[in-house]
Amino acid sequence: MTPEEFRRYGRQVVDWIADYQEKIESYPVLSQARPGDVLAALPVHPPEQGEGYENLLADLERVVMPGITHWQHPSFFAYFPANASGPAILGDLLSAGLGVQGMLWATSPACTELETRMADWLAELLGLPAAFRSDGPGGGVIQDSASSSAVVAILAALERANGGRAGREGLTGRHTLYISSQTHSSLEKAAKITGIGAAGVRTVDVDPRTLAMDPARLDAMIAEDAAAGAVPTMVCATVGTTSTTAIDPVAAIGEVCRRHGVWLHVDAAYAGVAAVCPELRWLNEGVADYADSYTTNPHKWLLTNFDCNVLWVADREPLVGALSILPEYLRNQASESGEVIDYRDWQIPLGRRFRALKLWSVIRWYGAEGLREHIRTGVALAQRLAGWIRDEPGFVLFDHHPLSLVCFRPAWDGLPEDEANEATKRLMETLNASGDLFLTHTKVGGRVLLRMAIGAPATREEHVRAAWRRIVEETRKLEKSLQ
Ligand SMILES: *Cc1c(COP(=O)(O)O)cnc(C)c1O
Repeated sequence: MTPEEFRRYGRQVVDWIADYQEKIESYPVLSQARPGDVLAALPVHPPEQGEGYENLLADLERVVMPGITHWQHPSFFAYFPANASGPAILGDLLSAGLGVQGMLWATSPACTELETRMADWLAELLGLPAAFRSDGPGGGVIQDSASSSAVVAILAALERANGGRAGREGLTGRHTLYISSQTHSSLEKAAKITGIGAAGVRTVDVDPRTLAMDPARLDAMIAEDAAAGAVPTMVCATVGTTSTTAIDPVAAIGEVCRRHGVWLHVDAAYAGVAAVCPELRWLNEGVADYADSYTTNPHKWLLTNFDCNVLWVADREPLVGALSILPEYLRNQASESGEVIDYRDWQIPLGRRFRALKLWSVIRWYGAEGLREHIRTGVALAQRLAGWIRDEPGFVLFDHHPLSLVCFRPAWDGLPEDEANEATKRLMETLNASGDLFLTHTKVGGRVLLRMAIGAPATREEHVRAAWRRIVEETRKLEKSLQ
């Protein structure tokens, strides 16, 4: 493709994306494709001869679009949001256009240094501790996901627990990781990957009302394990759990960690970015005093296209110690001078994309004020929705909803629990099949709850109100049919 051809098709692609943004509400939120539909529309064999780009754009409409669930649709309330935004898309395009592979400082100094500055900017915007800044012993790095951050945080914790020899000599002890029943599944996966194993994962009880980890129980379990010869290695505290945005008491957990010399990782994948608003800074309580590592996802609620996760450590030494390797073919003067960061030593793969460009685009376009406004819109809409649910007869509201996720269900008066759960799921399936909105569910104390996560950039009150009206309407229909 010549630069001239690129210019022509590039303009078509940008126009296509802008058109898509304008007409996104005309699509059903949840793809109505059945398994195999997209596959069946694709040729089995690759083309022998190259072809014009117009054909691909036509097939994008014909083959791909029916199989798209519209995450940027203003009536997308499932999982957590995965925000896209104009500046982030353009930043990603610039990254692709430069085609840089930033494994070492030397392979493109700007890729590393812009990332360092962006991690510092974001730490400042979120009010994170000074120890996480690049001018101290710690620092931040952009990873592909909170899951990867969990893996490298565990590797750093293992390195520290083994006196800096785990990376070289392997694990000697029987290591344990502490989570709660509400912790994201990526921690258990990380335990499997890092050799702790599912058997080394301890699940600490939660308060049945708040679903927050019980620090006294954690303390007792760590003491028992240590007495039995295990090496308690990491505790993962979650700020904003995936199921209900429960918030573990980071300071109290941190006290326990400090007493036992255990690494504290704070997973704030969804909620952490909300601390851009001063009135939500309480989310960071305990982080400055106790967290060894902390992670949040601009790719969820902070207007930055997937993938963009940021991990900070208070001390970079165990992380780099666990992950650095230096084969002859990568030796270079800059690395040996010790004056530069080589981010390949902060992550699992060698190669890395220039992700800092999209974060730079987003932060400069919106400014701190714009980012705050986006978060505040999501929180305010969720609080309004919670009020409507509370005021509607025949609905039960889960009363913890400090951010933009609201959990609830119809009361289904008179139905036994298992039938009520079935009815809630049927309601959700009916709503999602309608294409008018998309929401998901969770289970709390044996009860199925609907989860409505607000936060797509285009979501306004009218969308939340329309979704709520649909939910009430379908609930009333189902109630009638169940009588
Ligand atoms: C979404 C989520 C994750 C996983 O995020 P990825 O970036 O997709 O790996 C981890 N922890 C919590 C609390 C989450 O909500």
